[in-house]
Amino acid sequence: MSLPQNIVILTGAGVSAESGIDTFRGGGGLWEQHRVEDVATPEAFARDPDLVLRFYDMRRAAIQEKAPNAAHRALARLEREWPIKVPDGSVTLVTQNVDDLHLRAGSERLIAMHGQHLSAWCTACDTRHAWTGPLIDRPPCPACAAPALRPDIVWFGEVPYRMDEIHAAMAQADLFVSIGTSGAVYPAAGFVRLAREIGAETLELNLERSQGSAWFHETRLGPATQIVPDWVDELLKTR
Ligand code: NAD
Repeated sequence: MSLPQNIVILTGAGVSAESGIDTFRGGGGLWEQHRVEDVATPEAFARDPDLVLRFYDMRRAAIQEKAPNAAHRALARLEREWPIKVPDGSVTLVTQNVDDLHLRAGSERLIAMHGQHLSAWCTACDTRHAWTGPLIDRPPCPACAAPALRPDIVWFGEVPYRMDEIHAAMAQADLFVSIGTSGAVYPAAGFVRLAREIGAETLELNLERSQGSAWFHETRLGPATQIVPDWVDELLKTR
């Protein structure tokens, strides 16, 4: 394989698992004892907003107790030390995760396509606000004072954020790497096929093979805190 210039990395819940944040599909189809359709859809929010707000308040509080692990840190190091800089080349990190562990590890070219726990979205005035506390008591929006804040999370059935930027990065990619994602949630699950269409090399790093595993040129299996730093070391040594 020739040396890559533009790398797009997609991460999923598996990269945060060893920080103590549950993955999605780990618990027999339940996410923190809830069915996904009861907490992570616009229909669920319309039907039972208290249940949904309480669920996300719990998750928002929980992630603030967690810390980035060696995999998050290795990806931040790759971005920092990658010798080819924009506009000639780049490392773009796209995450499906809604925790802030990539940010806290120091990643800067980061696209959080499914939103983030530490942000609240006002559905009255369409503004977004850094948010660490609960939403269950319907606090007023800091911009318009309406009690209309919801988690700034892309729920099932909603359109992920910044898809145009993701497609622009994918169009330039000569290496696509998928880390700790089950390949079950679209559109992210389709990125590997996009990468293959434009002739990029494709690598999967995961604890076990994902649903789209056959699309990858190479799969390396193991815990993210081991296989991600190993891969980053290897890649940086080639430069
Ligand atoms: P998923 O739960 O469907 O799949 C997790 C994947 O991680 C699996 O392929 C599993 O093999 C792998 N994995 C588990 N432990 C690992 C480890 N230690 N090292 C490496 N890989 C490991 O997650 P997904 O594909 O990201 O899709 C779930 C959706 O749920 C996403 O859209 C995401 O927004 C959301 N989610 C986010 C978080 C978070 O922010 N940390 C947590 C749970 C779910």
